[in-house]
Amino acid sequence: MAPNDCIIVINAGSSSIKFSLFDGPSLRPALRGKIENLYAGVTRFIARDEQGRTVGEQSWADAPIDHQAGMGFLIDFARTHLDGRRVVAVGHRIVHGGIDYSGPRLLDEHVVAQLDKLVPLAPLHLPHNLAPVRSMMALAPEVPQVGCFDTAVHVGQPPEAQAFALPARITELGVRRYGFHGLSYEYIASRLPRADAGLATAKVVAAHLGNGASMCAMSAGRSVASTMGFTAVDGLPMGTRCGALDPGVVLYLIEELGMDVAAVQKLLYQESGLLGVSGISADMRTLEASEDPRARAAIALMVYRIGRELGSLAAALGGLDALVFSGGIGENSVALRAAVCRDAAWLGVELDAAGNDANPRGVARISAAGSKVAVWVVPANEELMIARHTLAMLEDA
Ligand code: ADP
Repeated sequence: MAPNDCIIVINAGSSSIKFSLFDGPSLRPALRGKIENLYAGVTRFIARDEQGRTVGEQSWADAPIDHQAGMGFLIDFARTHLDGRRVVAVGHRIVHGGIDYSGPRLLDEHVVAQLDKLVPLAPLHLPHNLAPVRSMMALAPEVPQVGCFDTAVHVGQPPEAQAFALPARITELGVRRYGFHGLSYEYIASRLPRADAGLATAKVVAAHLGNGASMCAMSAGRSVASTMGFTAVDGLPMGTRCGALDPGVVLYLIEELGMDVAAVQKLLYQESGLLGVSGISADMRTLEASEDPRARAAIALMVYRIGRELGSLAAALGGLDALVFSGGIGENSVALRAAVCRDAAWLGVELDAAGNDANPRGVARISAAGSKVAVWVVPANEELMIARHTLAMLEDA
């Protein structure tokens, strides 16, 4: 890869396409931006350089645009605004790779057709991840594309960690635990040993706490268990998702309350979690600023459930050497970290209160000097992980 070569990382959701540009073999972050409000409202595009200066801006006031038009715009923008850079590859975040994709893949028609078959497993996300891949194949077929899967690192978990206690005929259909947020955990596993070499072989529980939230147990950097399961609605309570639920509740909603599939899905994915319990907001900042007891109850439930999962994941690991906080809440909420660590004292977690209160930017240890379990904050960086995978794939090709 030459110095003026670059890699673009695409993270496409249902209504937005986020992108990041990394320069040269060192993968220096140079540019990031997004197109938001696809399909509804006023579609907007903005791109900023690493200093936060706006380098591109546009809005579509007449009518919203779709993924295909959004990608067409981004490709034109890249061709005209990249100061002589050459885009050598595009890496995509792809939520689901099933059990066959345990690492990144070069995306061609065949792989995309295989991934299409997984859409029933992730109908809310996968079609949006694949739309930009298809657009790129049509509009810029000369640029190699690499798919990086949020499920990949979990494929190597022990069979018991992946199985539901369901009849084999159902399991064989692919109904099993996949775990998500894998690119975030992979980045954390790669970053920790640079902060402390001993962590390379440690038993670590990482908590990625953003709008979506999950936890993962890693032994020597390998995922052994995770809280998200068949879908990204399992495990911890999240901004608007309920997390782990007795399946009997779903039967009750259908049988007794007469709810149909769409109504149940809306309830579990969009109306539950911090928003549902508080009745106020899905946003942790709003809840932390509120005096309302319902806001307190929502935060307390999240802290409680993190503590329960921590015990469970420590059991899966057979011990615990380090606890890592990541994601918007994990990186920023002093109070939530303090509460989780207080409840985890029985595991040997002892926080350095001043270090936590300082709310460090970047990778930092926030446990007390004598703490049996080290506590770290590691800012999430899935984009860099995808750029690294994409570069490695180019070098292997
Ligand atoms: P996503 O999962 O969409 O990438 P983020 O990782 O950005 O989300 O996390 C969003 C969450 O982080 C929101 O609940 C937001 O309130 C929370 N958050 C961001 N900054 C702070 C802060 N300073 N204090 C507490 N929570 C914060």
